[in-house]
Amino acid sequence: MSHDRSTCLFCKIADGEIPSSRVYEDDEFVAFRDIRPAAQTHVLVIPRRHISTLSDCGENDAPLLGRMFVLVARLAKELGVAYTGGESGFRTVVNTGPGGGQEVYHLHAHLLAGPRPWLRMG
Ligand code: AMP
Ligand code: ZN
Repeated sequence: MSHDRSTCLFCKIADGEIPSSRVYEDDEFVAFRDIRPAAQTHVLVIPRRHISTLSDCGENDAPLLGRMFVLVARLAKELGVAYTGGESGFRTVVNTGPGGGQEVYHLHAHLLAGPRPWLRMG
């Protein structure tokens, strides 16, 4: 998978050049359903700005990362999978590099929820 933004799949999804099932978008982020869902709810949250991996993030990216995780929590609520007590809740995963199982080199957070078993870890 390319690390180059000009051929980046998720940049193309953010730009609308490749179709996706969007659940949210604003000036900074886009969220869409994973094409191979591992769980009943499986959404990917990406910044519009191309950042290859979490390992490319520094202090300057802290506000963006903060907003990204707050957005994950907000979307979980809107999708009806937030933690509200009992057995409810969701998983957030950021795979980083080949060692972390990253397949698409544009920073993204997986939001996974629903009845187990899930097909994979996300
Ligand atoms: P990762 O292994 O963390 O890089 O995850 C990449 C995720 O992107 C996988 O779960 C894929 O199923 C998903 N994916 C790949 N191509 C698309 C696409 N065109 N639309 C939506 N999700 C995709
Ligand atoms: Zn990209």
